[in-house]
Amino acid sequence: MNKIDNNTLAEIMFPDVKETIADLEKRYPPRNMEGKEVTRFAPSPTGFLHLGSLFTAMVTKKVAFDSRGVCYLRIEDTDTKREVEGSSKLLVNQLARFHIAFDEGNFGDYEIGDYGPYKQSERADIYRICIKELVKMGRAYPCFCSKEELEEIRLEQEKAKVLPGYYGEYAKCAHMTNEEYVQAIKDGCPYVVRFRSLGNHHEKITFHDLVRGDITIAQNDLDVVILKSDGLPTYHFAHAVDDHFMRTTTVIRGEEWISSVPIHLDLFDALGFPRVKYAHLPVLMKMDGGSRRKLSKRKDKEASVDNFIDLGYPPEAIIVYLMSVADSSFEDWTTSNNSFDVDAFHFRLEKMSLDGMLFDNDKLDYFSKEIIARMSASEVYEHFLEYSKEYEKPYASLIEREKDKTIAILNIEREGLKPRKDYAYYSMIFPLIKTFYNEMYDASLKEDNPYPFDEKVSKENIIKALKVFVDKYDFSKDRDSWFDSVKLIGEELGYASRTKDYKNNPDAYIGSIADFASIIRVATFLSKNSPNLYDIFNILGEKEIKRRINLAIERLA
Ligand code: GLU
Repeated sequence: MNKIDNNTLAEIMFPDVKETIADLEKRYPPRNMEGKEVTRFAPSPTGFLHLGSLFTAMVTKKVAFDSRGVCYLRIEDTDTKREVEGSSKLLVNQLARFHIAFDEGNFGDYEIGDYGPYKQSERADIYRICIKELVKMGRAYPCFCSKEELEEIRLEQEKAKVLPGYYGEYAKCAHMTNEEYVQAIKDGCPYVVRFRSLGNHHEKITFHDLVRGDITIAQNDLDVVILKSDGLPTYHFAHAVDDHFMRTTTVIRGEEWISSVPIHLDLFDALGFPRVKYAHLPVLMKMDGGSRRKLSKRKDKEASVDNFIDLGYPPEAIIVYLMSVADSSFEDWTTSNNSFDVDAFHFRLEKMSLDGMLFDNDKLDYFSKEIIARMSASEVYEHFLEYSKEYEKPYASLIEREKDKTIAILNIEREGLKPRKDYAYYSMIFPLIKTFYNEMYDASLKEDNPYPFDEKVSKENIIKALKVFVDKYDFSKDRDSWFDSVKLIGEELGYASRTKDYKNNPDAYIGSIADFASIIRVATFLSKNSPNLYDIFNILGEKEIKRRINLAIERLA
């Protein structure tokens, strides 16, 4: 039999492929962006935005943004089993909420950029060109092993107590001749294409990671699959080809890929591509009964970005929180610059904490409260209304009808040096303020016991306090003098105007002035906790306050 050379084998495997890697180099020329970073966010379209993916997307975008470079979106849909229809469009919209936009990429129904297609399932011809070339070089071969044969190899390795995988003497098809390959292909045997590694896993390699510094790890010796039987590449191969021809400078991805870097370097070297820079980001963890574990899509609601959006966290608060996780100097920066503008902050990958990032909801709430506290009442109103329209429709029409009143409510203790920081997300607001709306107040009165009065004061004294208050309180008092007026009325009724006096001599009084104020608060606001009474008077007005107090008197009598 005539000896079949690698070129002939490559022609038999890929008869329709005419172009070469050199042609691709011309089609996708270097970007000539001295000193600028080209990064990419490369999700698989599963329809679920994990908090960890948002974290990666944010970092990816920020690294490009800070260098005035390019950040593109590549859809990694080679695993067709996991693909969810329409999810790339959804993803683009979700990320847009966080002001993460891409310079190039596949955006569901359209594409932008000269380095596409940006969807892997549309790049089959590019991968085939590269694989044909590897076959010509003797660095790729067809593998006909069935599932059963692979399982046999695994068992054999288990017995021999050696590392599992398709390598060395265990890589059966690596040792076939070209004649045997061609015969099997002609016989119609199904096959995948494997990379032929020249590595040795007893040797170490060192590569630099922008987050972790130098990493030393065993060389690759696996003949990994590069082209699956469905004609699509594996992640490893697509990563090498795409990040080279899309001219990525820094690959930013999750730390679960660190152990595969030797495979990737092996592939880059064999293909003759210069290596890219790597930054492997730590995964988000959570505490679970005293130990840490990965945030799980199945078990943890916090794993889903939608969970936070559904609760009404402002997207910028989530980004600010994630930036504080990404760069340990960011929080101090926010304090010294009195700003939460992530764009103005100079981010450094090497400032990322390495020991697994613990998700901290209190920290998220802290940032969110700070951010909402800095908004004007009208801004909060707009966000709150928009949120309610989407999630709490019945309330939306109420707050829309009562716009001025709602803004006044949201403005309580807002302007000034120390604004109240009580709202972390928009769904928190309505339950806290609903009693301001007359119809909600009236609806609450239908409950069995709407008034949580302190049991310390007798019913008779409560009724008396309310009656006298309605009669005597002067609603024209201003912010500085209103409390004196309350004190005066309280004193006349037998409440100590100084807490100290009451404490020293409790039998001489019905209660303290705080107890008196609490009666008015419970009658008008149905709660022991409310904003300042003066603000309640001011927003509700004399008529409504009197109506509410008289209703309480009626109900108690
Ligand atoms: N599609 C890969 C994933 O979702 C992306 C990894 C990468 O960024 O290279 O894990």
